[in-house]
Amino acid sequence: MSNWAKIERVETYVLQVPLRRPISDALYHRTHWHIPVAEISTSDGLTGTGYSGVWAGDDLLCATIDRYLAPMLTGRDATAIGELWDQMYWSPLHWVGRAGVAHMAQGMVDTALWDLAARRAGLPLWRMLGGTHRRLETYNTDGGWLNFPMDELIADTCAMAEAGWKRVKLKVGSGDLAADLERVRRVREALPAEVGIMVDANQAWDRVTARSAALALADLGVGWLEEPLHPDDVAGHAELRAACPLPVALGENVYSVAEFAQFIRADAVDIVQADVTRVAGITEWLRIAHLAQGHGLRVVPHAGDMMQVHQHLVAAVGAAAGVTAPAMIEYLPWGLEAFQEPVQVSAGMLTLPDTPGASSGIAPEARRRWEAPK
Ligand code: MG
Repeated sequence: MSNWAKIERVETYVLQVPLRRPISDALYHRTHWHIPVAEISTSDGLTGTGYSGVWAGDDLLCATIDRYLAPMLTGRDATAIGELWDQMYWSPLHWVGRAGVAHMAQGMVDTALWDLAARRAGLPLWRMLGGTHRRLETYNTDGGWLNFPMDELIADTCAMAEAGWKRVKLKVGSGDLAADLERVRRVREALPAEVGIMVDANQAWDRVTARSAALALADLGVGWLEEPLHPDDVAGHAELRAACPLPVALGENVYSVAEFAQFIRADAVDIVQADVTRVAGITEWLRIAHLAQGHGLRVVPHAGDMMQVHQHLVAAVGAAAGVTAPAMIEYLPWGLEAFQEPVQVSAGMLTLPDTPGASSGIAPEARRRWEAPK
């Protein structure tokens, strides 16, 4: 087989997958999960898949690829991932999307190129990247939503503990801090002592609210506080960390390695939650993870990809530079039936696949059922 693989075709489409039940956090209420997809076919007969995960703007992501990135890529060597990344990043789209739509569209393409590379190598991506973590701990996010009444919240989180999860995450930021704290307190009382709780405010608070919330949540033994403030407020997160012992987690709304570097330089983050579907793909995600680990920080990605690609990335880099933190990934199982090889999770533990690629391939049946107009 030649080492050169010419890109012959770039195709995009969108799936809109119904959720098992509607969910709410501090910002949004949702019934469907949208998966914009980019498939890249090469002269050696392989197809690689990249995708993002959004509630809106899937048409913009696909249009960016169709109109701007596909003409840049067609005819080029698919194995030149870094070179193509630089050319897409420094194209004139830079002016209109150094973060956000253009950057995320680039990420979809980059993930497809890495999927292709792993398929060409005949290896699962985590093995190609030198990974050693064959099993990952997952923490469960899918039961702590704000729209669940207290009894459902408690029943859900207790069911997770019984099913084997060692950590669960609850949403806060409802606008009523006392009610948020009461929900955390009640779940804490109901769960076995060994099951950890994290909380996520989805950017809902100002600095004053975040400080008093963080102190109360620390008293409740919470493991981390996620997105307490607006994701551009680097100084606010640094101030919060200095005022309270509770670890601060963020990253699902931080869109580039340069933005993460600002948080890291300012001592404004403990848990780095970079999401491969929000930054410019696997290339940029790896740069962020290495930067974070080089500063002694933990990397636990936000699973906007529903774990499919992140499982490979966490298996490759682990959670931290040391060995005390488990290699961990968020459990968010929406629309797993959209994928050819859904993640394998049992009793809260994820087992890495042996099949070649990045586990990003879309099941043909899913496309027939859920493809939406772009
Ligand atoms: Mg979050």
